[in-house]
Amino acid sequence: MVLADLGKRINSAVNNALSNSQDDYTTTVDVMLKSIVTALLESDVNIKLVSKLRTNIRNKLLESKSKSTNTAQTKKLIQKTVFDELCNLVDCETQPFQPKKKKQNIIMFVGLQGSGKTTSCTKLAVYYSKRGFKVGLVCADTFRAGAFDQLKQNAIKARIPFYGSYTETNPVKVAAEGVAKFKKEKFEVIIVDTSGRHHQEEDLFQEMVEISQVVKPNQTIMVLDASIGQAAEQQSKAFKDSADFGAIILTKMDGHAKGGGAISAVAATKTPVIFIGTGEHVHDFEKFSPKSFVSKLLG
Ligand code: GDP
Repeated sequence: MVLADLGKRINSAVNNALSNSQDDYTTTVDVMLKSIVTALLESDVNIKLVSKLRTNIRNKLLESKSKSTNTAQTKKLIQKTVFDELCNLVDCETQPFQPKKKKQNIIMFVGLQGSGKTTSCTKLAVYYSKRGFKVGLVCADTFRAGAFDQLKQNAIKARIPFYGSYTETNPVKVAAEGVAKFKKEKFEVIIVDTSGRHHQEEDLFQEMVEISQVVKPNQTIMVLDASIGQAAEQQSKAFKDSADFGAIILTKMDGHAKGGGAISAVAATKTPVIFIGTGEHVHDFEKFSPKSFVSKLLG
């Protein structure tokens, strides 16, 4: 089930509960929760999270029932409770890193190949460039043939200075050189793109650790394809263990993303989503806000 459908299903569950409201309030709540639970599970939200959400909504609604005296109030109460609990799922309440002007802010990107990492590096570079930062892009992916060319083309189109190498095969070296060059030239935001694939998974994680040790990022961002479903949770935990990212960018939110996997990944790693990718173009990029995300979800 895609995200938009999830919103519709949750809304209609709330509305049905109210229009068919039984004399027994508890039964009304339980019938509504059953539909919400089914909708969330079909959208790939992790089962443990769904169960926690169900318990929280149920407890809150049953506790506060006595406070509402009429149907209109009950409707508001149910809507607010469902809204708040969905927000809690995607809101980590930790403030993500904010680059500072006249400082050297180093941002390292990690994520699996195809997740939209290189595209998101350029999107973020353009975002900060438009806000007056001097931004440079470093391609530290020496594994995939064509990775540097892709970053270079994106960077040229977006008029962002870039660094990479066609001959150097050691990504740690390229990352160190690129960051050193931009630091020397007083760049304020230096974005390092890394590889998303290796022959062995351990090699990929080892490489991320080594790059991180030399570039010493102020922030590491994991890029996650919103459509990957249940795999998102396990994947983001694996990255968290080695790259210890402090923020997530969710990509491909424009497509048929089920989105539930992404919601689970955020909850599992307690890491905030900072931006979402909504298309292939460099401007298809939005700041993430839990409240507006859930509002949109609920239509
Ligand atoms: P990487 O291998 O992780 O660096 O991924 P790329 O940046 O090369 O992106 C893989 C594919 O996904 C490319 O075709 C991108 O144009 C596409 N892509 C990236 N972000 C988005 C997005 O937010 N929405 C859509 N529809 N496509 C995206």
